[in-house]
Amino acid sequence: MSDASTIGGVDFHCHLDLYPDHEAAIARAEAARIYTLTVTTTPKAWPRNHELTRHTRYVRAALGLHPQLVADRADELPLWERHLPETRYVGEVGLDAGPRFYKSLEAQKHVFQRILERCADAGGKILTVHSVRSVPAVLDMIEAHLPRERGSVVLHWFTGSKSDARRAVALGCYFSINTEMTRTDRGRKLIGSLPQDRILTETDGPFTQLDGRPAAPPDVPVAAASLARILGISPQSMVKMIMSNLRTLVG
Ligand code: MN
Repeated sequence: MSDASTIGGVDFHCHLDLYPDHEAAIARAEAARIYTLTVTTTPKAWPRNHELTRHTRYVRAALGLHPQLVADRADELPLWERHLPETRYVGEVGLDAGPRFYKSLEAQKHVFQRILERCADAGGKILTVHSVRSVPAVLDMIEAHLPRERGSVVLHWFTGSKSDARRAVALGCYFSINTEMTRTDRGRKLIGSLPQDRILTETDGPFTQLDGRPAAPPDVPVAAASLARILGISPQSMVKMIMSNLRTLVG
C-alpha cells in the first residue's frame, strides 16, 4: 500500500507568501497534491495571492488581517471588506493576547468583530482563526457574531483547555493540528479529546520547523502520522479521515 505522502493531504493553514519564492512554494504544494489553504496577514497582500491561486487545483488563498498586525494596520479593514466577495476563505484573523500584542487587544477585538459580522452577512465563509492566550474571548466573539449556519471556523494551533475545546466543538469549530501541538503531553491529551470528525492538519509554515528548516505543505503527512499515532489508527486511515473532514467542511 502507498504511504501517507502518496495519497495527498491537507495543510489548512500556511503562509506560502512568506517563503523566499512564493510561486515555487505554490508549485511544490500543487505537485505534492496537498490541499493547501495559504493565509494572508494583510489585505494588501491579497491581490497577488489571489492572482497566483486563481487556477491552482490544490491551493486556495484566504483573505486575512492578522491580529499581530492590527496595531499598525487596523486602517486596512475597509480594504479587507472590499476584497471579501472575491473569496470563500478568510484568515489569518483572530486575537492575540500574548505579551507583545496585548496592548492592541481592544483594537484587535474591534477588527475581529467586524470581520465576523461581515462574514455572517456574506454567509458560507470558512475562517482560519488565531487564538493565542485568548481562546475564551475568541469563542465568545464567534458565539456572539458568527451564527453556526452563517459560516465555519477552523481554530488554528489551538492551545486552549479541554473545556475550551468542548465549547468550541459545541459551536461547530474544527481544529487544524500541526506537529508542534503533538510534541507536548498537554497537546497530545487535548488532541485525544477532540471529536475525530473535527480534525484537520496544518503546517503553519514557515513558522514551524522540520529537520531544521521551515516546514511546507509537502511536510503535512508528518503531522498526519503524528496524529495517527496519538489516535491509534493507521496513517492511511488518518489521511482519509482528514480528507473526509475537509470535504464535509467545504462541501
Ligand atoms: Mn499562521
